[in-house]
Amino acid sequence: MKCRGCGAQIQHENQRKPGYVPLEVFQKRRAEGKDILCQRCFRMRHYGKLESVKITNDFAKRLSKLVRKFEVIVWVLDISDFEGSYDPLLAEILKDLNKIIVVNKIDLLPKAVTIREIKSWVEERLKGQRFRDVYLTSAAKNYGTRSLLRALSLYENVIFVGMTNVGKSSIFQKLTGVDVNVTPFPGTTLDLIKATVKNTDIFDTPGIFSNRRIIDFLEPGSQKKISQKSLSRMTFKPQKGQTIFIGGLCRLDFSFDTELPPIFQIFASESVKFHVTSTSKADNLHVKQYGRLLVPPFKPKELSMDSLNWKEEEFELNTGEELAIAGLGWLSVRRGPFKAKVKTINDVIVKKRKALV
Ligand code: GDP
Repeated sequence: MKCRGCGAQIQHENQRKPGYVPLEVFQKRRAEGKDILCQRCFRMRHYGKLESVKITNDFAKRLSKLVRKFEVIVWVLDISDFEGSYDPLLAEILKDLNKIIVVNKIDLLPKAVTIREIKSWVEERLKGQRFRDVYLTSAAKNYGTRSLLRALSLYENVIFVGMTNVGKSSIFQKLTGVDVNVTPFPGTTLDLIKATVKNTDIFDTPGIFSNRRIIDFLEPGSQKKISQKSLSRMTFKPQKGQTIFIGGLCRLDFSFDTELPPIFQIFASESVKFHVTSTSKADNLHVKQYGRLLVPPFKPKELSMDSLNWKEEEFELNTGEELAIAGLGWLSVRRGPFKAKVKTINDVIVKKRKALV
């Protein structure tokens, strides 16, 4: 059987290959006598969402060539995962181009952080990038999209780019409504979605994923779980010789010489489970509870522990600093200094930064 949208052979095995439909969905739709669309066509038709693309050098070349044809590029970042959404390769591609920066999901930050503070923090982080302005948005709370649209209306054509999960499709839909169509753009091999609002053609590109974010290693269902609406904030005051697990994919071992123990908060999705233990028991616990008590991954088989390359990196952290773990969350120091040895997946970005919260 072939997909009614693109004509690809329907298959249920490989999500990344053409024609994929989960078997249950296929059976249900067939029983109901409905059209069979592959997941890619279904998403485009119903959510105006293109299939995501891995950031490879080849993709970088194609994207780089494409975006130059537009008056302005709208680069969507996620304030709850700044390091992960500000991917180094993407940052390099877009560096000297004319951009509007959109920083989405600002509803996830504590209310005590003001819009002005977020904006100046973001602007500082964007040093070295060429950009027109920064717009803070929340697609979830419908904040900031109207002034963004006003800014875009000054152009004839604009193009959206961004990593997956930053809320790019949500913003695109808020700006344009859902009545979009898929347009192949001449001279490129990238799928685009186009919508026209008054005199402005707004194009969307496929979301990009890398292996520099924890979230990129998880199954789509789990990605959804950890990019869902709210963030949890937990305060910790570790004793000497303690370890904290942020789920099963990140572990922090602490050491400090101060009399008073450090205090810090960890921000992560509500579905991420924290666990404090003594460092001497941590290895054992990790093996036993990986994908069980320590989630994500949400089951041990989702991402086998042995299939991953792990790294360990030590950071000296002071009051007013944060440590971001891309695609997972961040730690914000309330009382330092202390050292944290971070163990996580090898390619994942772990970065010390000036505090946002
Ligand atoms: P895309 O992959 O960048 O196109 O992202 P989506 O638009 O599919 O959004 C990814 C996830 O983030 C979804 O679970 C959305 O519900 C959620 N999301 C999108 N925008 C916001 C926002 O402004 N705030 C919050 N809290 N969640 C958002």
